[in-house]
Amino acid sequence: MKPAPFAYERARSLDHALELLRSEPEARVLAGGQSLIATLNMRLSQPPLLVDINHVDSLKGIEVKDGALRIGALTRYAEAERSAEIARHAPLIAKALPFIGHPAIRNRGTIGGSIAFGDPAAELPACLLALGGAVVTSGPSGLGTVAADAFYKSLYETALAPGEIVLAIELPVATAQTRTGFAEFARRHGDYAMAGLAATARANGRGLTDVRLAFFGVGATPVRARRAEVALAGGDLEAAIAALANDLNPPDDVQASGAVKRHLAGVLLRRVARELTEGRPMEGRL
Ligand SMILES: Cc1cc2nc3c(=O)[nH]c(=O)nc-3n(C[C@H](O)[C@H](O)[C@H](O)COP(=O)(O)OP(=O)(O)OC[C@H]3O[C@@H](n4cnc5c(N)ncnc54)[C@H](O)[C@@H]3O)c2cc1C
Repeated sequence: MKPAPFAYERARSLDHALELLRSEPEARVLAGGQSLIATLNMRLSQPPLLVDINHVDSLKGIEVKDGALRIGALTRYAEAERSAEIARHAPLIAKALPFIGHPAIRNRGTIGGSIAFGDPAAELPACLLALGGAVVTSGPSGLGTVAADAFYKSLYETALAPGEIVLAIELPVATAQTRTGFAEFARRHGDYAMAGLAATARANGRGLTDVRLAFFGVGATPVRARRAEVALAGGDLEAAIAALANDLNPPDDVQASGAVKRHLAGVLLRRVARELTEGRPMEGRL
């Protein structure tokens, strides 16, 4: 299929992009196009205007500022994979990036596009949630910052208001105590995950505190497994796995039944728990 007709404008600056979005309420932002163009071609979406933000330089760049790592929305996955700042300050993102699609997709797809699109099976929204990061936006009511826990509302629905653009994501900088773990199960490497887990914690002696477990591919949005987090922080991996029965309620989808996904979530949690504890058994329970 071919897309329905649409107008195209290349934004020269952030202000210009916001002005174009104001001029047409149904307009859509075009970043890497790796999801948007597919939805246009399948006529799942028929916006009258695409606002191309690829030449807006203020949306680019990776920097540490005020204790946070700020990754510009237009940062492509491939650039992020090569970034020494991301490897050092956000190792969870560095672990997740190679699982996103294939090299051709990672050459064009952007961090901001993934965060804004909010595919429930995508890696980066779950990483943002696990890291307790924030989304920086600009729109008709000015600049805004939305905490990751409040950003994903429902299936492909985020806290972004009409006419708003994601400027960047901000992540807490990793410390010597930061532990991260990432695992996903996909039919083929590069496919969307049937189930995945992004996790962070703080090492505290032989145990862990501040455990954050963000599962993806198991619901309408990335999901925090809060009961499992408490159990894992208490050093009881088996209780954490059992808690997933209450924390997660994955629906059946084309990839797998909800029951299979819940089973996979437990397997992933077992693997990631080892990673969080750097291979050391958790009080003999692993
Ligand atoms: C074959 C294939 C396999 C893939 N596999 C994976 C995978 O395994 N994991 C994964 O996570 N993704 C996967 N993707 C999707 C890919 O990651 C997309 O790049 C990503 O979802 C969207 O980023 P983009 O920059 O291409 O955004 P676009 O496609 O340009 O835009 C996507 C949506 O986000 C909006 N948007 C984009 N940028 C902004 C912004 N700065 N502010 C506000 N709104 C914005 C657009 O308006 C649009 O609604 C795959 C894609 C393909 C084609």
